Amino acid sequence: MCMALVKIREILDGRWENQTVSVRGWVYRKREGKELIFLLLRDSTGVIQCTAKKASAAWSEAERVTIESSLTLEGMAKQDKRAPGGYEIAAEAVSIIGLAEVFPIAKDKSEEFIRDIRHLWLRSRKMNLVMKVRAEVLEFSREYFKRKGFTEVSPPMFISAAVEGGSTLFGLKYFDQDLYLTQSSQLYLEILIYSLEQVYCIAPSFRAEKSRTIRHLTEYWHIEGEWPFADMNDLIRFEEGLMEHVCQRVAENCQKELQELGADISKLKAVKAPFPRITYTEAVERLKAKNPALKWGDDLGYEDEKVLAEEFGKPFFVYDYPTAIKAFYCKTYRDRPEIALSVDLMVPRIGEVSTGGAREEDKDMLIKRMKEQGLKPEDYEWYLDLRRYGTVPHVGFGLGLERLLTWMLDLDNIIDSIPFPRTTRRFYP
Ligand code: ATP
Ligand code: MN
Repeated sequence: MCMALVKIREILDGRWENQTVSVRGWVYRKREGKELIFLLLRDSTGVIQCTAKKASAAWSEAERVTIESSLTLEGMAKQDKRAPGGYEIAAEAVSIIGLAEVFPIAKDKSEEFIRDIRHLWLRSRKMNLVMKVRAEVLEFSREYFKRKGFTEVSPPMFISAAVEGGSTLFGLKYFDQDLYLTQSSQLYLEILIYSLEQVYCIAPSFRAEKSRTIRHLTEYWHIEGEWPFADMNDLIRFEEGLMEHVCQRVAENCQKELQELGADISKLKAVKAPFPRITYTEAVERLKAKNPALKWGDDLGYEDEKVLAEEFGKPFFVYDYPTAIKAFYCKTYRDRPEIALSVDLMVPRIGEVSTGGAREEDKDMLIKRMKEQGLKPEDYEWYLDLRRYGTVPHVGFGLGLERLLTWMLDLDNIIDSIPFPRTTRRFYP
């Protein structure tokens, strides 16, 4: 007999009703009655209820099976309104592949414990679904960049000079030299625009971030774009276009995942360009009532960003930040050097998800800004070369993939948006 080996999702979609199928997977839950054993079986695509009757040939193996054992199960796929997902398999044969020892998560589901055994928790429905949506967000981001004529490039992770300032730099021994892990690929993208023009990368960034918040990791994935002959308006338009594209595509393509995760699909469907824009100065004015200590010139803290974002209730931009709180490469207004051409994208609950801006293209201005910030221009010779040989106005941005996902999926903490979160305290396995 030739029996179809099928994925659980296909059965749940009703494609194998009243047919005998074979599925492979792991036991998610087990409930034993006198005459009937219920197994919830999972594979990469879903979970299905399977029943084994005492009289059936499946019974003895179904009895022996433990949570997380791997197995092949054969039986008739049937519609059953009572079964979660609406379908079940009446097992005719069970064949154990790997009998599991007592699975630790079955006993202890505390948050702390689950984090300690991440390698097993990644089998959970929640993590399975989050990882699928994450893959889609990556895919749809690439799709958008590609449509807009961008080339994906691969910058280095070992670097010799800081991008975002020394306090969050990870140093490392590189043979007998001191190097760092990159905090952003921006400076490398700036090199590449002179060859490829519109470029982007999706790569890790590392931040020695001591603060324990719901939005900081020490290793995160950074979606960064950079392109020449463009201004702030082009930049903001691109960023809101990217957000709209990713949110709409995920809302369309990941309905099942979003539903099961309990994420708010309508919030994603509502993401449409253009987004509201306010200046930093306006933001400070708005915030004064709630935070009287805030003065013009202070950086907006997480609490400030959250208050603002709550007012908007959707993604929005804050632009024209004080130069003093921005990195050396930020371009400033020629007639207002105290203001930088910089823009942050904010979302509710998380605050900042992206920073972008125009980059200083004038060599002498750049050297002046470096010196003001205590940086040695000698350390950035190659970066200055970009201004020596055919400099162009250019813009770029960096978007934190995990912050975006945490917002999109209404996750409590950024650590659930990445399979192997790295924080001050966690780096196992
Ligand atoms: P924050 O002030 O919130 O720590 P930042 O302004 O230092 O962030 P940027 O240098 O602007 O961060 O980095 C660009 C984007 O990368 C941020 O908008 C954010 O989405 C993401 N990002 C930065 N640091 C982290 C981190 N430690 N963990 C996760 N994502 C981060
Ligand atoms: Mn920022």
